[in-house]
Amino acid sequence: MNRAAAPLSTWYLIAGGVVATASVAVPSDRARDLIVVVAALQLAPALWLARRSHPLSMAVLACFAGAGGFGAAARLASGDSPPWHSLSAVVLALCGAACLVAGLALLIRDGTAMPPKHLYGDAAIVALGTWIAAWALFIQPVSEDHNARAIGVFLYGLYQPTASMVLFLTALMVLGRKQRPPSVWLLVMALTCNMAADVLTSMSDVGHIGDTAARAVAPLCVLAFFGLGAAALHPTFAEISRPHRQHRIDSMGRLVVIVAALVAPVVVLAATAPNDPTDRVVRSLSALGLAAVVTLRVVGAVRANSRAQAELIHGAQTDPLTGLPNRGVLLARINELLRTSWGPETHPTLFFVDLDRFKNINDSLGHTAGDEVLVTVARRLQGAAPDAATVARLSGDEYVVLDPACQSQGAALALAERLLAAFREPMVLSQGDVFVTASIGVATIHATSSTSPEDLVRHADTAMYRAKDAGRNCVAVYDESMHERVAHRLAVETALYRALDRRELRLFHQPILDLQSGDVVGFEALMRWQQSDGTIVSPAEFIPIAEDTGTIVPIGSWALLEALSQLRRWIDDGVCSPSATMSVNVSPRQLSDSNFPAIVSEALTRSGVSPQLLWLEVTESVMIAEPDLALSTLRRLRSLGVRVALDDFGTGYSSLSLLQKFPLQRIKIDRAFVQGVADNPNDRSLVRTIVAMGRSLGLDMVAEGVESVHQLQVLSDLGCSKAQGFLISHPVPADAMRSTVAALERLGQFPGLRTGVVAPGR
Ligand code: C2E
Ligand code: MG
Ligand code: MG
Repeated sequence: MNRAAAPLSTWYLIAGGVVATASVAVPSDRARDLIVVVAALQLAPALWLARRSHPLSMAVLACFAGAGGFGAAARLASGDSPPWHSLSAVVLALCGAACLVAGLALLIRDGTAMPPKHLYGDAAIVALGTWIAAWALFIQPVSEDHNARAIGVFLYGLYQPTASMVLFLTALMVLGRKQRPPSVWLLVMALTCNMAADVLTSMSDVGHIGDTAARAVAPLCVLAFFGLGAAALHPTFAEISRPHRQHRIDSMGRLVVIVAALVAPVVVLAATAPNDPTDRVVRSLSALGLAAVVTLRVVGAVRANSRAQAELIHGAQTDPLTGLPNRGVLLARINELLRTSWGPETHPTLFFVDLDRFKNINDSLGHTAGDEVLVTVARRLQGAAPDAATVARLSGDEYVVLDPACQSQGAALALAERLLAAFREPMVLSQGDVFVTASIGVATIHATSSTSPEDLVRHADTAMYRAKDAGRNCVAVYDESMHERVAHRLAVETALYRALDRRELRLFHQPILDLQSGDVVGFEALMRWQQSDGTIVSPAEFIPIAEDTGTIVPIGSWALLEALSQLRRWIDDGVCSPSATMSVNVSPRQLSDSNFPAIVSEALTRSGVSPQLLWLEVTESVMIAEPDLALSTLRRLRSLGVRVALDDFGTGYSSLSLLQKFPLQRIKIDRAFVQGVADNPNDRSLVRTIVAMGRSLGLDMVAEGVESVHQLQVLSDLGCSKAQGFLISHPVPADAMRSTVAALERLGQFPGLRTGVVAPGR
């Protein structure tokens, strides 16, 4: 509908007002009927113009037109009208019926949120109620009139209930919405006029009202028809059929109408006595019919109610994706077991199953594939668990299997293995096959246990994390020490957040010695955390936690600037040579941060240290986990002039391809091999190979963890150029470095090599 149609709708209404006034003014009944027929006919162009609106809007119109046709048919056939009127009445009634059927079908399909069965039931109650009242008040008296033709009475009897049914359905749809645009109000006006006209007509037919009052019927009909046309032409008409949330009238209004439709016939039947046996029979049969429909409707409502209730309970207790019981049900069952099930022979056991690297599946194959995996896992766990067990999904990729009748820890482990085995076969997804593994934590409910269901789930969860730490795809059984470890870790995590602000972090430094010249050619910065109570936490303990929680990013940036500033001061103070380097350890999380090269560049600028003096020590894990990201970051670092060392070489995958692919300039041979280099021929040949390989690639070689002169000698013989370790010096605080370096220099060309004198360690 275009904007220009708004005034058209207004003009339409004004025209309706004028025609209605004219119908009051004309004296002849025939002229009035003619005006009503013309008013009905004018609806055709309005309907034509409104045809682009949604079918539902057309349905409302079709119902009106149908009811109007019926009304006109009944009128034509009534009283002393000429015989040809009967034929027109039948044709009109049939057309009206067709419109009504089509309109009602559309209304019922789309117009309300109610199930059609209930709608039919309510409509039938309204229709029957109206029929009984209409029969007693109008139809029966009219049928007694000897002038009345059978066809007229028949149509009349049919018209009243049909019209009330249509009004009911239309009102339900139109008024059952929160927002009521002007077109809705125009429809309401048309409805009201139509109803008033109907009642007046019926009352006049029976002689309850005089001729003067009956003259109001024509203007009311005119207003009803024009109101309908104005509604159809209003720009908001199409909105009527847009999806909307049903308002309370949908239930409340319906109830009021239905109660009225039940009470009215009861009152009418009670107030009026049957006139003859036929009347009595009609009344009794109608009342029986109404009672039957009401009974059916009540039975249907009760059934629907209990179904809805069952669905609600089911929905609140199950996971919608897999159909498994949810956390609430699981906790309730554990609670029940805590009270009832344990005994000397039975130890109800919880298996916390968490998929390994499920995020990868979601990220790489999409969430639909992820959902398929979750459903398949649910089915497989159900298949592997004993019949009496409960398999629940807690959230995401977490499931719990609760076996209420487990008899021993051995049986629990056997079941855990069976659950793990359920993952051995590949999962067939629409995108192809995938292999998924899981980590399982096992916790048993003990007879003496005073723990809550939530605690038990947490215990199994803790054990599951232990299984993850142990390399995934395995089982771990909960014990109290795990809880202590978790609590300790939580305490460390919390304290670590504040360590930087509280200046609890410090750097120690370990000198790196050139084995040819015996000079201190560099230092490695090693972080220390001195907690407020004086305890010193080893980086091996807190760095992985900082890495997990992300605190490593600010801590690492601080260490970088601190180490470089320290080197600047040592060079300026003559503690070390101007070409001495500083090695700073960089964790994978820092390296995956795209901002990292900028942080390095800023630290170099702020400390005034040349990029060539900085070594960044990285481990190979990040190059294996995220090779593309690592490569691009390392290239950006290289372009700054910073050099990169591969730390702990030999402990991980340590392949030649890594050394070739990534821009690395140094290998640090791990302490594990250095320790055995003097006595273990295998370690020695391995170090020999590493050194030869590094040399051929033009890489600088540093041996870590040198603790004996013998080791140092062998390393020197094998061609390793640099070394660090307790033999040379322990990591020392910054203020102890001057004396450490001086002591090392006093030993000249490292006489320890020749004499066995060990350098000044701490
Ligand atoms: P790393 O980088 O391999 O550091 C060498 C570790 O070996 C240091 O342990 C050092 O004290 C120890 N060490 C040196 N010489 C010897 C020796 O002769 N014998 C023995 N047994 N050990 C020796 P530390 O200081 O406990 O550091 C452990 C790890 O923590 C470091 O291994 C490094 O991976 C990490 N780390 C330390 N500081 C930082 C830091 O500032 N940032 C990051 N991301 N990691 C750091
Ligand atoms: Mg290192
Ligand atoms: Mg190392």
